[in-house]
Amino acid sequence: MERFDYVVIGGGIFGCYAALYLAGKGARVALLEKEAHLFQKASLVNQARLHGGYHYPRSLATAALSDEHKERFTAEHRRFVNFSFEKFYAIDRFGSFTDPSQFERFCAYLDIRCERVSEHPLFNFNRLEALFRTEEFSFDPVLLKEYYTNKVEHAKGIEVFKNALIQKASPDGKEWVLEIKSNIPSLAGKTPAASSLKFQTPVVVNATYAATNAVNRLFGANDLALTHEIAEIAFVTSPLFNGKGLTVMDGPFGSVMPYGLSGLLSLSSVAYTHHKISYDNLPRFDCQTETDPDCRPEAPGICTNCPRRPVSNAYKMLAQMRQYFNESVQFEHLFSYFTIKSKLKANYIDDGRPTEISMLRPEPRLYCLFAGKINSIYEVEKIL
Ligand SMILES: Cc1cc2nc3c(=O)[nH]c(=O)nc-3n(C[C@H](O)[C@H](O)[C@H](O)COP(=O)(O)OP(=O)(O)OC[C@H]3O[C@@H](n4cnc5c(N)ncnc54)[C@H](O)[C@@H]3O)c2cc1C
Repeated sequence: MERFDYVVIGGGIFGCYAALYLAGKGARVALLEKEAHLFQKASLVNQARLHGGYHYPRSLATAALSDEHKERFTAEHRRFVNFSFEKFYAIDRFGSFTDPSQFERFCAYLDIRCERVSEHPLFNFNRLEALFRTEEFSFDPVLLKEYYTNKVEHAKGIEVFKNALIQKASPDGKEWVLEIKSNIPSLAGKTPAASSLKFQTPVVVNATYAATNAVNRLFGANDLALTHEIAEIAFVTSPLFNGKGLTVMDGPFGSVMPYGLSGLLSLSSVAYTHHKISYDNLPRFDCQTETDPDCRPEAPGICTNCPRRPVSNAYKMLAQMRQYFNESVQFEHLFSYFTIKSKLKANYIDDGRPTEISMLRPEPRLYCLFAGKINSIYEVEKIL
C-alpha cells in the first residue's frame, strides 16, 4: 500500500491544477485519471471562452467571479490565449431575456468594455436588436492540455496514474484506504504489473466533474444536485468571419468564436448543442449500455469516441446562427466534439456557473471541486 499526502481524482484542468498547487507546497500527490490520457472531457470539449462576465447577465455573482479571475488566468496562460480577435455580443430582437439598455447597464456595473455598433457589413440588423463590440479572449484547450499534461507528468511530488478507476474508499482512523482498478497491466513503470492498487491518504480531492456524485458516493458523501447534458461543440471555418466572434444573448441563442489559437471557430447553440438531458444526479443516458465497461452512469466515458454518440446538430446550429449574418458570410462545418456538461440544478433559472468547492468529510478529509468555468481554477487555492 502506497501512502500519499493527497490523492486527487480526475485529470481535467481542475484536478491537474489542484495537484500542481499541492505539490508546489511540498506535498506528495497521486493524480488518478480514469481514461488513458488527461484532459479528454470538459477541459478539452468546451467553447474556450475566457469568461470576463458578459455571458451572465442573469447571475451577477458568476459574472463578477469570471472577471475576478480573468486577469490572473490570462497572465499565467498568455501563450495559450487568443487576444487578437474582434468579439461582438448581440441581442436578438425576439425572445431575449435581456435588452440593449439592461445589457449596457450590466456591463457598466462590471466595468467591462461594451460599445454599441450601429452599422456593420457582416451582420443582419433586421434580426439583431443591438450589436456591441466587447473585449473577450479565448483560451486554447488543446495547448492547455499539452501544457498541463507535461507539467503534472514532470512535477516533483506528483505521480500520475492513468487508466485508474477508484473502486472503493474506506476510512481507517484518520486516513482513507483506496482500492483502485487499473485496466492496463503496468502504469508507465511506476507500479509492478498489477491490475489493482491500494493507496492510503488523509485527504482526497474529487475533481471528476460529470462523475462528481459517483465518486462522492464511494466516500459516503451526499450528492450535489446536478443535471447533465450530452453537449456538442461543432468546429467550423468561415472566410469572412475568420478571427471574429459573435455571441447572441440571452436565452436560446448561440455563439461562434475562435477556439483558441487553432484557426477554427467553435459553434454552439443553447437550443441545439445539448442532445440529451439527465435530471438524475448521475449522468444517466439511454445511449449507455450495461455491457460497456467504459461508460456507465457511475463512470461516464468519452462521448466523442463513442459509436453511440448523437448525430451532429451542426447544421441546425448553423441555420440558427446564419440569421444574424448577412448572406455573404458563409460557414463550413468540419467536425464536432461531444462531452457531458454538468450543471448545478440551483442555477436552472439564473444560468450561473459557479465553481463550488466544499469539504464534505473532515477526517479523513474529502474535498469536492465542482467546476463552473476554466478560469476559476484559482478557487482551489482558497480552500485546499
Ligand atoms: C460544452 C461545454 C462548454 C463549456 N464552455 C466553457 C467555456 O467556454 N469557458 C469556460 O471557462 N468553461 C466552459 N465550460 C466549463 C468547463 O469546461 C468546465 O467547468 C471544466 O472543464 C471542468 O474541469 P474539470 O477538470 O473539473 O472536469 P473534466 O475536464 O471533465 O475532468 C474530469 C476528469 O475526471 C475523470 N474522472 C471521472 N471519473 C473518474 C474516476 N472515477 N476516477 C478517475 N478519474 C475520473 C474524467 O475522465 C476527466 O478526465 C464548458 C463545459 C462544457 C461541457
